[in-house]
Amino acid sequence: MIMNLFELTKNLMSIPSVSGDEEAVGFFLRDYLENLGWTVELQAVSENQNNVIAYLNETPRVFLSTHIDTVPPFIAPSEDDEKIYGRGACDAKGIIAAQIFAAENLRGEGVTDIGLLYTVEEETSSAGAKAANLHPLAAQCEYLINGEPTDNDLAIGSKGTFRLKILTEGKAAHSAYPEMGESALEKLLDILQDVRRARFPNDDFFGETTVNIGTIEGGVALNVIPPRAEAGIAVRLTTPRANIEAMLEEIVKTRGKIEVLSCSEPVKMLAVEGFNQKTVRFTTDIPYLTNWGQPLLLGPGSILVAHTKDEFVLKKDLETAVGLYASLVKKLLN
Ligand SMILES: [Zn+2]
Repeated sequence: MIMNLFELTKNLMSIPSVSGDEEAVGFFLRDYLENLGWTVELQAVSENQNNVIAYLNETPRVFLSTHIDTVPPFIAPSEDDEKIYGRGACDAKGIIAAQIFAAENLRGEGVTDIGLLYTVEEETSSAGAKAANLHPLAAQCEYLINGEPTDNDLAIGSKGTFRLKILTEGKAAHSAYPEMGESALEKLLDILQDVRRARFPNDDFFGETTVNIGTIEGGVALNVIPPRAEAGIAVRLTTPRANIEAMLEEIVKTRGKIEVLSCSEPVKMLAVEGFNQKTVRFTTDIPYLTNWGQPLLLGPGSILVAHTKDEFVLKKDLETAVGLYASLVKKLLN
């Protein structure tokens, strides 16, 4: 069954696909695209997770891509005259629908040098993108237009994300005899105070480096000197991670240790004339799709409502995105 843009968006949204549970929406996309006449591959990422890769010829030069997973919880789609509401409206099922419509319009004009790449687990580990990066079609591809909600502006830079833990150790003791112990929590609080005071380097292009102390855990009971503590920190990178990691090492010194959880470096993307340009603060699959040619980033909707219970996308933004994706592809192919 062929759907209109809004129907396709809502149908994709109505299939829950919180990270780790993308199998059904992947099958839906495969069937939908095959029905339109695309060659579709499911690339296994785990036993029940598949990236969806579709193309019209064997050597597409431009791919449109985004992710098929969402953050929790599932929120069923609803709509009014202006907007579609619910999980995935803008991040990123509306984007998938807009890209498919753009690709279909291009195909209608005889353009066949295009492909579609839809990954799993963007919201957590980028496991889908890491697997996709090894796909043989990557080597042939010259441009990857990734979709994330950028308000339909062309994002020419995105900050990186450096996730880490700071762990401290002390010595447990009865709280009435603190001199017999050593508080891991007080050590951690001292370190965190220094982290808060630190002036991390900013960048003219990417903007401000920001640090979020997201979690603090530690201690065993009110009357025990805490033997262990840890804090979880996310740094939005505007310079290479190495700089920031060195600064953090210098702050922590021997008071604790740093455990790196994950890192994606800041990335610059291709600027194209005729599109509104800006930098964005969030990260995408792009750092893991390095084999897919030059990256670009554009999509309908606002990152400020993504991941919230009020997620929505304006219907007119979805329609605009169809035209923007198609004209971007044509510019890149010429
Ligand atoms: Zn997203």
